[in-house]
Amino acid sequence: MADVLIIEDDATIRTALVRSLSARAHSTMTAPNALEGLQSLVDHPPDVVLLDLGLPDLDGAALLAMIRAVSDVPVIVISARDDGAGIVSVLDAGADDYLVKPFAADQLEARIRAVLRRSDHGRPAGPLVVGGLAVDVRARTATLDGTPLELSPKEFDLLAYLAERSGEVVAKRELLAKVWNQPYGGADKTVDVHLHWLRRKLGETAEEPVYLHRVRGVGVKLVPPS
Ligand code: CA
Repeated sequence: MADVLIIEDDATIRTALVRSLSARAHSTMTAPNALEGLQSLVDHPPDVVLLDLGLPDLDGAALLAMIRAVSDVPVIVISARDDGAGIVSVLDAGADDYLVKPFAADQLEARIRAVLRRSDHGRPAGPLVVGGLAVDVRARTATLDGTPLELSPKEFDLLAYLAERSGEVVAKRELLAKVWNQPYGGADKTVDVHLHWLRRKLGETAEEPVYLHRVRGVGVKLVPPS
């Protein structure tokens, strides 16, 4: 059971979401536009946000950036269409997951449970240390040799996932399923692109790895420098 903030301008969809979430024992708050949504989020911090991409007053990615400036709350984006570019930009802006309308109530429930699980549970108390790399999952900060790393939310999630499994080879399919919550594949360049950015921030390349080692045909592993 969670406090869910629904930011959606379509009253019919809003009502349907409230009904289906209430039936699953969630409590709901609603906002019909971006600015009221942001205000509600600040006044009554929810456990999870459902964010419609097509709002009258603000572009979804812009609103997400404003949300991320004040909150780490899990955000599930709801897109009216199969808007590939729009979805990629909101995922990069820090959305945790997305659903394309129309979707089944069970599907939404599964996504909510997944983002809550990732945000609340199974987190180690201290930072994860791999060589000179320290990843504090609770504070969502990472340092390399004591210097803070500037990571996007997804780069951080990726690094944290690998750091929790340091020394293990992790398949790209697993990263896509667990970090991006896309168990059935989809945008398979996503992982490569984020690994590329992460390597740059760690000051290394795929050809001359230090921490992030590619295991050809299998996946990637994070290890201390040899
Ligand atoms: Ca809309």
